[in-house]
Amino acid sequence: MEYVSTRGEAPKKRFTEILLEGLAADGGLYVPASYPKADLEAWRALSYRNLAFAILSQFMDDVPDLRRLVDRSYTKAAFGSDDITPLTTLEPGLHILGLSNGPTLAFKDVAMQLLGNLFEQVLARKGESLNILGATSGDTGSAAEYAMRGKRGIQVFMLSPHGRMSAFQRAQMYSLQEANIHNLAVKGVFDDCQDVVKQVNADAAFKEQYRIGAVNSINWARIAAQVVYYFKGYFAATKSDSEQVSFAVPSGNFGNIYAGYVAREMGLPVRKLILASNENDVLDEFFRTGRYRVRKTAAATSSPSMDISKASNFERYAFDLLERDGRALARRWRSLDSGSEVDLSLVPRAGFASGRSTHADRLATIRSIHSKYGVTIDPHTADGVKVGLEHREAGVPLVCMETALPAKFAETIREALGRDPARPAGFEKLEELPQRFEIIEADAEAVKRFIAGRAA
Ligand SMILES: *Cc1c(COP(=O)(O)O)cnc(C)c1O
Repeated sequence: MEYVSTRGEAPKKRFTEILLEGLAADGGLYVPASYPKADLEAWRALSYRNLAFAILSQFMDDVPDLRRLVDRSYTKAAFGSDDITPLTTLEPGLHILGLSNGPTLAFKDVAMQLLGNLFEQVLARKGESLNILGATSGDTGSAAEYAMRGKRGIQVFMLSPHGRMSAFQRAQMYSLQEANIHNLAVKGVFDDCQDVVKQVNADAAFKEQYRIGAVNSINWARIAAQVVYYFKGYFAATKSDSEQVSFAVPSGNFGNIYAGYVAREMGLPVRKLILASNENDVLDEFFRTGRYRVRKTAAATSSPSMDISKASNFERYAFDLLERDGRALARRWRSLDSGSEVDLSLVPRAGFASGRSTHADRLATIRSIHSKYGVTIDPHTADGVKVGLEHREAGVPLVCMETALPAKFAETIREALGRDPARPAGFEKLEELPQRFEIIEADAEAVKRFIAGRAA
C-alpha cells in the first residue's frame, strides 16, 4: 500500500515510513493512494482480532509479524472482553458501541494500544529511537502515555492545557511514574498546545536531530485501527450484509468519524455518518453550509475532548472532496492558515449529517438515556446520542459511538443525575496518587529546550 500527501508535493511512501512521522514534508497528511476493498461475507464471522488483522494487513502490508502485534494489542486483559468493542442494544434499532473499555476508559485506547506495539517493533528493527511530541485535550494524552509507558527507545513529551482537564483526566496522565513519560502543562488552551507542536515540527533541523514523532490524531495508523470497529459495530447490529446502518459520532479532530468514512469507502454499507459537535461547532457548520471556518480559539465545554477550533483530520476528507487534487487543497489551506475560511460548498457531501449539542442538551440526554434504559453515558457520548436521535430513520439501525466512560467526567454526571458515576475496578483512588508534571509557557522554544535536555 502506498501513501500520498494531501498537499500533492511530498514523495509517496510505504506505511512503516509514515508511521513515525507527523506531517508530510509538504505540510500535508498522508492518505492511502487508494482504499482497499472490504469482504463483508468473509469478515462477518471473524473475532475482533481476526477482523483487525484482515483490515490492518491491507493498510500495513509492510509490517512483519503484524498478526502478533494485533493479537498482543487487542486482549481481554486490556479491554475487558474478547469483543473489545461490545454492542449494547438500548431498544431494537438503537445501539451503543462500547469503544471505551481500554486502559484509559476512552475510545482512543483502541488505536493507541496498537500504535505502542507498532512503534516499539518498527523502531527496534531500524535500531532507532523516537521522541514523541503530542498535544492533548485529555484523552489522547493519557491513551498515548498508557500505550507508550516503559517502551524501549521511546520518550513521550505530552502537552496539555494547564487547568483545563477534569481531575480524573489529570490524575490519569500525571500519575504515571515511568521515566520515559513527560507531562508538560501548557499555560493556554488545547489549540495553543497544538500550535506549539506544529511550530516545533516546522523546525526541520530540530525535528530531524531529535527524531520527533507524533501520536496525535493525524497519525494514519490510528485512523486505520479505528476503521476496524465500524465493521465490528456493523456486523453486531445487523443480520445480513444487505442492511444499512447509521453511525452517530461525537467529533472533535474528525479522526473517529473519518475512520467511518474510510470504512464506507471500503464498501461498508453505511447509510449516514452523523457528526455531533459540541458548542465548538466548526464541523457542524461545515456540514450545514459548506463553509469551513476555523475559529480563533475553542470554548471550554463539559465535553472537553471535543473542544477544538480546527479539526486536523478534516484535511484528509477535503482532499477527497477536491477529487484528490493536492494543489487545489494546498491553495485553499494557505488561505485558511492566514485566517480566512475555505468555501467547499460547491462539492457534494453525500452520506453525512450533522448537529450540535450544548451543555443543557448533554445533561438532558444523560438523564433521558438513564431513565429510559438504565444506562449511564458520558458527556461526549451524550452529544452523539442527542444528534444521532435527531437524524434517526425508521428501519435503519442507529449505532451511537461511546467515546468515553462516565467515570472520567464525574462532575457532569453529578450535575445530570445527582450522583457519582460508577468507577471501574482499579480506578478507585486515582486522584490520591502522586502526580508528575511541569508547567510551561505556550512557547515552542521553551518546549524545544525541554525536549533537548531529555531526548531519547
Ligand atoms: C478524542 C475524543 C473525541 C473526538 O474524537 P475525534 O477523533 O477527535 O473527532 C470524542 N470523545 C472523546 C471522549 C474523545 O476522547
